[in-house]
Amino acid sequence: MRITEDCIGCGVCVPYCTIGAITLEGGVAVSDQDKCVECAVCTRCVVCPVDAMIQLEVAELPYPRNLRRYFSDPIAISPVTLAGGRGTEEGKTNDRTGRFKFGEVGFGVEMGRPGISTSFADAQTVAQAVSKVGAVFEAKNPIFPLLSDPATGTFKPEILGERVLSLIIEFTVSIEKTPDVIAALRSVEDNIDTVFSLCAITRVNPDKTIPVVPWLERAGVAIRPNAKINVGLGRPLIP
Ligand code: SF4
Ligand code: SF4
Repeated sequence: MRITEDCIGCGVCVPYCTIGAITLEGGVAVSDQDKCVECAVCTRCVVCPVDAMIQLEVAELPYPRNLRRYFSDPIAISPVTLAGGRGTEEGKTNDRTGRFKFGEVGFGVEMGRPGISTSFADAQTVAQAVSKVGAVFEAKNPIFPLLSDPATGTFKPEILGERVLSLIIEFTVSIEKTPDVIAALRSVEDNIDTVFSLCAITRVNPDKTIPVVPWLERAGVAIRPNAKINVGLGRPLIP
């Protein structure tokens, strides 16, 4: 979002920015173009009394800046993934997809939220670290087409400076590699300029225990169970 010279410096728009990219300088508002993730929240709220806030349509944003919009504005539909948003349904449809099997863990590293944002450079730091311990990245996640080398978690070089409100690095490993994933994430947590939360997804055992829990506890990870349970009513796509 850009602010034109019509700005009268009223400051009304400042608190509407999701990440604090708008500031008042010299009596007018300025949107930091490096920080702005093109989420369009500020312009969608239509708060400017003099119509000085300009938000380009997603088709008008050049590549790779348009990636900011696709990841930060859930209304923007990516021509690459043909979907809006920043991730997949993860385990929510597992009874139909069979995506997560016994003996596996699906991880989601949710970067940038809340209100911090992140960059593809940060995402690459994390993706490269977990790829070294065997992460298999989810092909339906919108970051996947942006990887120049999915085997090493390396992104296309021209996008590394782009920032997004948040993104999710989704991958699967065998459950025995859970401690390696945690160690890999801890090895880079001080090397990234953002925050992340970690989702660990597994099927529930027939005795109702959750197989990844002891692995996480042994790795010293505080667990907050958050159930999105499929009850087996869907017709499996994969037996
Ligand atoms: S488009 Fe989003 S990030 Fe950019 S100035 Fe507006 S609210 Fe802030
Ligand atoms: S709301 Fe409009 S006039 Fe007021 S500071 Fe923001 S851009 Fe300037």
